Amino acid sequence: MKPPLFDYVRATSVSQALDALVDNGDDARLIAGGQSIVSMLNFRMITPSVLIDIANISELRGISLANGKIRIGAMSRHSDVMRDTAVLNHLPLVTEAYAHVAHHAIRNRGTIGGNVCHHDLASELPLVLTLLDAEFVVVGRAGERRIPAADFFVDAYETAVDDKELLAAIEVPKQGPDERFAFEEFAIRVGDYPIAGAGVRFRTNGSTLSDVRIGFIGTGIIRKRNSAAESLLTGASPTREILDRVVEVARATVEPSSDLHATAEDKIDLIGVLLRRALERALGTQL
Ligand SMILES: Cc1cc2nc3c(=O)[nH]c(=O)nc-3n(C[C@H](O)[C@H](O)[C@H](O)COP(=O)(O)OP(=O)(O)OC[C@H]3O[C@@H](n4cnc5c(N)ncnc54)[C@H](O)[C@@H]3O)c2cc1C
Repeated sequence: MKPPLFDYVRATSVSQALDALVDNGDDARLIAGGQSIVSMLNFRMITPSVLIDIANISELRGISLANGKIRIGAMSRHSDVMRDTAVLNHLPLVTEAYAHVAHHAIRNRGTIGGNVCHHDLASELPLVLTLLDAEFVVVGRAGERRIPAADFFVDAYETAVDDKELLAAIEVPKQGPDERFAFEEFAIRVGDYPIAGAGVRFRTNGSTLSDVRIGFIGTGIIRKRNSAAESLLTGASPTREILDRVVEVARATVEPSSDLHATAEDKIDLIGVLLRRALERALGTQL
């Protein structure tokens, strides 16, 4: 399939991109790395009359550290984020999850902004950025809005970014030295979207856990965090019995559906296995 006809605008500043969005109404669509939107155009899943290319807007690129947060420009390519030393040193959960995101060629073109705005429910970054309490910096003609991760991901392929706005950056508080974390997933091939995945993050004082975050992908639920599993571990000293209970609660609260790759029952089993694996790795012990 070939895409439908469209006009093409190459913006070189955020202000130009916003003008083009406002001028072209609902018919305009942004293109960043093109790795998801081009397939959607070719399959005619979307038929915008104008594509606004934001790839040449330098102010949307770059990774910096200020005030205890890492700021990642929306147009930063996957390959740049996954190799960045500030991200590796201060957001190791992001670097760990990136090992599973797509294939080299796609990572060299695809951007972190395009990834989260596309919001495929199987995507790793929306989950880990939620577990890390990321804030999404969105700009429009009226100015800037900061949207917490819990409100940013609205539905499959839908975020809180309005038609006349764009995502400028993602700001993520640095992970602390007392934090433990792990991300695990199962995909048919490394780099494919996973069938299921589990992420965990918590603080520990050596005996009890606090600030517990547990979340899944591939579960059929839009909300990323699983508060039932989190509350069981909060304040607990992890034992085999508690981990069994956390896994049991997680299995009972996810609602995956069967598809070409796995049945709903298989996905529930996967969630249980991946969660236990992630928890034990984060704890540094097999219980
Ligand atoms: C074979 C294959 C395997 C893949 N595997 C994985 C995987 O395992 N895990 C994973 O997470 N992803 C995977 N991807 C997707 C990949 O990560 C894409 O790079 C990403 O989803 C889209 O990024 P992009 O920059 O190419 O965005 P584009 O395709 O250019 O845009 C995607 C959407 O986001 C919107 N958009 C882009 N930038 C902005 C912005 N700044 N503000 C507002 N809206 C914006 C666009 O309008 C469009 O709707 C895979 C893709 C392919 C083709």
